[in-house]
Amino acid sequence: MLTIEWNKTTGWQKPHIVPYQNLSLDPATCVFHYAFECFEGMKAYKDKAGKIRLFRPDKNMERFNKSAARIALPNFNSAALIDLLAEYTKLESRFIPEERGYSLYLRPTMIGTQKTLGVGPPGSALLFVIASPVGPYYPTGFKAISLEATDYAVRAWPGGVGDKKLGANYAPCIVPQREAMSRGFQQNLWLFGDEQFVTEVGTMNFFVALRNKQTGQKELITAPLDGTILEGVTRDSVLALARERLAPEGWNIVERKYTMGELDEAASEGRLLEAFGAGTAAIVSPVRAISWKGKLVHCGLKDHEESGEIATKMKNWIEARQYGDDPHEWSYVC
Ligand SMILES: *Cc1c(COP(=O)(O)O)cnc(C)c1O
Repeated sequence: MLTIEWNKTTGWQKPHIVPYQNLSLDPATCVFHYAFECFEGMKAYKDKAGKIRLFRPDKNMERFNKSAARIALPNFNSAALIDLLAEYTKLESRFIPEERGYSLYLRPTMIGTQKTLGVGPPGSALLFVIASPVGPYYPTGFKAISLEATDYAVRAWPGGVGDKKLGANYAPCIVPQREAMSRGFQQNLWLFGDEQFVTEVGTMNFFVALRNKQTGQKELITAPLDGTILEGVTRDSVLALARERLAPEGWNIVERKYTMGELDEAASEGRLLEAFGAGTAAIVSPVRAISWKGKLVHCGLKDHEESGEIATKMKNWIEARQYGDDPHEWSYVC
């Protein structure tokens, strides 16, 4: 593990890479009481030449710093942390499987470590990075999931912190997820407000492809970054690739608010083409159906299909850049 301590008088201390080990913290440490914790999720990939690559690590570092700043934790120089991640992944190179779809999951984390029950800015912090080899999310090919549209619980709200990767955002989502699971749905589709705006799915951003009711034009739609959406690196990558490669084929790429009612209408008129989640773990996760107001909204997949055309293309395009097969500035060679 990589560890770096900080305190408010001397700033960041020397970084260390040490054997994976327990942390020893006083029970009064502020992280245990007031959730001074934020994290990142990213992966290191081994390319065909055996070189280790990170995918858009600058994006993760930028988000990590935004999350930390929101809970009064210190920032760390992005470029310096990318250098440290590169050193760390090179040292742990033997844990990165070579095969396509495999990678080393990296979990940068920051916690407030001040011993105090007083509620205030932490005077000390610990940044650490742990890692684990991971295999393909869908080892036997895509398996489309079904969602429960959730409005009785709210994941994020305007002025809140749902757009930051704070640990405090995740524990409250487990009970609704367990509820959805008990009814046979893998994830929650988080709705917001009386209008039933579609926001995100589980811990992934959400995309829908449909035909515009008026013009008939094909549209790839995702919710805008209005503070209720986590700024996914995968979301940004899907949008960039769509603008680069789908727009010239006539697709309209749109970031806008849209409602569950709109999706239901598009589905019943045969205009809903496909839907998928997007995030680092799976890259894309195709969606078969959404349970909403006691009915099932079918998202466009045929019975024998597990993924739509756009989700399949996106997975291949993004993976090609992650593993360096499609050389691109998004891929950072360690
Ligand atoms: C991490 C996360 C995502 C996906 O972000 P990526 O950078 O693409 O992995 C989306 N939504 C939530 C709530 C998340 O925590």
